[in-house]
Amino acid sequence: MPTKTPITVAHGDGIGPEIMSATLRILEASGAALEIETIEIGEKVYLRGNSAGIDPSSWDSLLRTKVFLKAPITTPQGGGFKSLNVTTRKTLGLYANVRPCVSYYPFIETKHHDMDVVIVRENEEDLYAGIEYQLSPEAMSCIKLISRPGSEKIVRYAFEYARLHKRKKVTCFSKDNIMKMTDGLFHKVFDEIAPLYPDIQNEHWIVDIGAAKLADTPEAFDVIVMPNLYGDILSDVAAQIAGSVGLAGSANIGGKCAMFEAIHGSAPRRAGQNLANPSGLLLGAVLMLVHINHPEAAERVHNAWLRTIEDGVHTYDIYTEGVSVEKVGTREFAAAVIARLGQKPNRLKVVSYAKGDGKALENPVAASSAQMELKGVDVFVYWPSRNPNALAEAMGKLVGAGLAGNDLAGDGLELQMIDNRGVKVWPAGRAETFCIDSFRCRFMAERQIGMDRILALLGRVSAAGIEIAATQSLRNFDGQPGFTLAQGQ
Ligand code: NAD
Repeated sequence: MPTKTPITVAHGDGIGPEIMSATLRILEASGAALEIETIEIGEKVYLRGNSAGIDPSSWDSLLRTKVFLKAPITTPQGGGFKSLNVTTRKTLGLYANVRPCVSYYPFIETKHHDMDVVIVRENEEDLYAGIEYQLSPEAMSCIKLISRPGSEKIVRYAFEYARLHKRKKVTCFSKDNIMKMTDGLFHKVFDEIAPLYPDIQNEHWIVDIGAAKLADTPEAFDVIVMPNLYGDILSDVAAQIAGSVGLAGSANIGGKCAMFEAIHGSAPRRAGQNLANPSGLLLGAVLMLVHINHPEAAERVHNAWLRTIEDGVHTYDIYTEGVSVEKVGTREFAAAVIARLGQKPNRLKVVSYAKGDGKALENPVAASSAQMELKGVDVFVYWPSRNPNALAEAMGKLVGAGLAGNDLAGDGLELQMIDNRGVKVWPAGRAETFCIDSFRCRFMAERQIGMDRILALLGRVSAAGIEIAATQSLRNFDGQPGFTLAQGQ
């Protein structure tokens, strides 16, 4: 008897308990040597007043087993509830979200007969860092945070994944024609790492046209690596066009822990009716078996599942008259997979897994350093009159030297420009530009300055009764500006 691997299991909300029970029955029947610890997460925990949706004692289990098989949960709307999925991924350092999206034509209806795409989504950064602010009555902002270590880890993971799984190509999606610094860094890191894998082709697509191509011709892609938000959206698109969102599983991989789930949510409208397709969670569990080095069980379950699909035993979401043979519920589908354990598909590709297929990737990141020079400050202010010229005049009076050559009374800082939503509106703004009540004033110095100068300036702005919403230091890094120009600057 092999030693049992401890895993933590959560049954979740909505259709979660039904698809988890189906999945666990199949895993048990497959002979997978697992020791299951069950924790409670999600709606019930939220509604007990725990805004994180997970009790502290549940973390003990996760940190002990380091492997989490999780059913989908319902996040109650509003009320300050934090997404448990995002919290778990970030707390456990699960930086890579791997989502294989495969079509099973002609057994499951799809326009894309040869689709076999793996989306590797960055899981901790981007707009999902969750750093949001209200700047003024009219303006909200969300910080898009992309780091070099975060980008290096995910891009290296994508290439290592491609090599291990004998994939031919890794494609990067980004929007670096617009977000030159954040997505620009992601693309740059991709270009640095790709040549280290000469056996694997590489290419980059701007995400909008890349998404259109993926939806139209998914067979043109193999492994696609992308920042968090694009990966979230496009993996749902990819799963749906492959046949159903109910089909795809996902692995969230970190250096120490891993979490496995279906990509879909808790589908509350389908709950408790023995309707839901357990395939997404089951394929997530297959990824888990590979990860914890139980390749035989992974292979048995995956091939039996393929055979079930091939035999036309389908839940409602993939059932098509004339293609499917039998429409079944969640429990009957699980029984059909169990009855086929040990069998292989006849026409769909048989899968095989080997020891070490889920080997952990050593993914060290080197510290970065740069020569940094403080050059100025952007001051975001609330200016309800929405008149940029009046704002420039107020700032000009403040600095004492007027608007012409508005040197700030010995600070060495000049009001260089004012913008509104990223468009320059002073000096020489256009009357046509629509302004909201939140402006950015850029103060720059000729030479490097000290932070004391900036603090003195902020003190004067505040003393003049101008509401400061946020400030951002402007620095050069190794002589290159660490900030973009405004549109029209
Ligand atoms: P959803 O994915 O739960 O469901 C959308 C629709 O897809 C369903 O109405 C159903 O028609 C279909 N569907 C999804 N899974 C299916 C399955 N296994 N079998 C058959 N049909 C299936 O998305 P939603 O309705 O936007 O979200 C519902 C809840 O799930 C929300 O509270 C959301 O926050 C949560 N959610 C959780 C996770 C997670 O836990 N990982 C992920 C996404 C959404």
